[in-house]
Amino acid sequence: MDEFELIRKYWMPLGREGAPGIQAGIGDDCAVLRVPPGEELVQSIDTLVEGVHFLPSIAPADLGWRALAVNLSDLAAAGARPLCFSLAISLPNTNAKWLDGFVRGMAELAQRFDLPLVGGDTTRGPLSITIMVQGLVPAGTAMTRGRARAGDGIYVSGTLGDAGAALDWLEAPQDHPDIRFLLERYHRPEPRVALGQLLRGGATACIDISDGLVADLGHILAASGAGADLIHSALPLSDALKQQAGDESATLALSAGDDYELCFTWPDGEPLPETLEARAGCTVTRIGTIRHEKGLRVDGRLWASGGYDHFRESS
Ligand code: ADP
Ligand code: MG
Repeated sequence: MDEFELIRKYWMPLGREGAPGIQAGIGDDCAVLRVPPGEELVQSIDTLVEGVHFLPSIAPADLGWRALAVNLSDLAAAGARPLCFSLAISLPNTNAKWLDGFVRGMAELAQRFDLPLVGGDTTRGPLSITIMVQGLVPAGTAMTRGRARAGDGIYVSGTLGDAGAALDWLEAPQDHPDIRFLLERYHRPEPRVALGQLLRGGATACIDISDGLVADLGHILAASGAGADLIHSALPLSDALKQQAGDESATLALSAGDDYELCFTWPDGEPLPETLEARAGCTVTRIGTIRHEKGLRVDGRLWASGGYDHFRESS
């Protein structure tokens, strides 16, 4: 199969002829996108490298889902409505079974948001996947990390620590409902796209949790010039995590990555939008408060270490 057959067979079906806002998609030199008057284009890009972000043993359909999900999660954090995505992929070979699975997993998630693939690049080399997503927000309303203020409540969506706990089972999965649940949370993260859009205009800061709560909330604190108090017992933990990780659960919830939940701050005393959880399709839990004093405290004690950092020397 040559490069152009591959593009026609696998990537073109992920495009959608005549998708709203897409003037030109796969097949031309450039994609042409229309930004409606009064809206702004919001964009994010992420790379997944085999051996760094996923194991060679990952099912191709899970990889296809996950590669798109982690990007959509960034759009969710900005409160954007997904518009389209691009895919730059480096493949060691053209294994049809692998490509079928990869495209199937990616299409499953893309269809949920009516999200067309509008272009990309295909090269031969070690397996690496780079996706860029683009979304829209009303001008001036994109959420950032930088406007949390002392007194704001700190909230997270869903449950934390599940994907971190799944790391222990990746290479030797077990057929147990808890372990299946934890592995699903790692392989098929749910980007909180609906929640992000509902928070726009109300939340003072928002971030998605890719590297762990402490690390990612730390980015909000740094950007906002503030500190935080977290309440250990308030961290939302799944039953599966509590069953499987026991006393380690809260530590995983604080420091493990890969959950792709949203963490946001909301002005104290202002109610969250009514029926937020029902409309977002996930739970939302208050876990603490933004403070003037710098640093992150858990039950009053200063927390020292952060989450995952690619460039930190391992000790
Ligand atoms: P060019 O040489 O002009 O950059 P290419 O030959 O790389 O174009 O690609 C041909 C067309 O196929 C382009 O429209 C490009 O966006 C699309 N394409 C190539 N690879 C991918 C991919 N992995 N996903 C989506 N579209 C792709
Ligand atoms: Mg060209």
